[in-house]
Amino acid sequence: MFLDIFFPNRCLHCNRIIEHNLVCCNVCFEKIHFTNFEFSEDNIVKEKCKTFFPVEAASALLHFEKNSLTRKIIHELKYRNRENIGKVLANWTTERLDFRHNLPDLLVTIPLHERKLRQRGYNQLHTFTETLSEFYNLPFDHQLIKKNYNSKAQALQNKKHRLKTENLFSLNKNLSGKHILLIDDVFTTGNTIASVAWEILKSGDNKVSVLVMAMDE
Ligand SMILES: [Zn+2]
Repeated sequence: MFLDIFFPNRCLHCNRIIEHNLVCCNVCFEKIHFTNFEFSEDNIVKEKCKTFFPVEAASALLHFEKNSLTRKIIHELKYRNRENIGKVLANWTTERLDFRHNLPDLLVTIPLHERKLRQRGYNQLHTFTETLSEFYNLPFDHQLIKKNYNSKAQALQNKKHRLKTENLFSLNKNLSGKHILLIDDVFTTGNTIASVAWEILKSGDNKVSVLVMAMDE
C-alpha cells in the first residue's frame, strides 16, 4: 500500500518494521505475558468477580503490568485510533480459550457513553468481540447495555459517586434464560463489570461470564 512506504507499521516495543496486521515483532512477542487462565475455577478474575456477583466463568487474556508491552498495545487500541488491534487480541484469544465447556448464548460489550464514543470514534471492544463472534459462531449485541452518564474511573473512589453508579448502566431490553459473556478491556476494580452484571442478573433468569483483554492486578 502507498501509505506503507511512508508510514510503515512498526513494532510497538522495538520499532522494527513489521507486517501491517501485527502489533509487535516475533522477538518482542516473547515479552507479552499471557495469563493462560482459560476458564479455570481459581483464576484471579473469577475470584474478584465472585466478590461482587454470582459469576459463571471468567478469564483474562493478558497481564496488564506496569510499563509493559501489553499496556502499550491496549493504549494504542483505546487512544491511538488503532481499532484493528482488537482483531489481533481476538486472534490471540481464540488460540488460547476453549469455549466448549462454557458456551455463552451471547457476547455483550460494555458500552461507552455517547459523548465518549463520539470523541473516540469507535468502541475499542467491537472489533475484538466481532472477531470472537465469527470464530466461535456466537451472536453479539453491542446495543444491549446503555451507559446512562459519563463517569471517570477515579471518581468511583469517591463514596458519593459510588452511590450514583447504581444506575450507571441499564438494559435496552429485557432478557431471560440467557448466558451472557460480558466483554471489557481492562479489569481493575471490577466496579464496571459488576454494575453491568447486576443489570443482566436483575433482568431475568440469566447467567453471566466475563472475558477481559487484560487483568490489572
Ligand atoms: Zn519488536
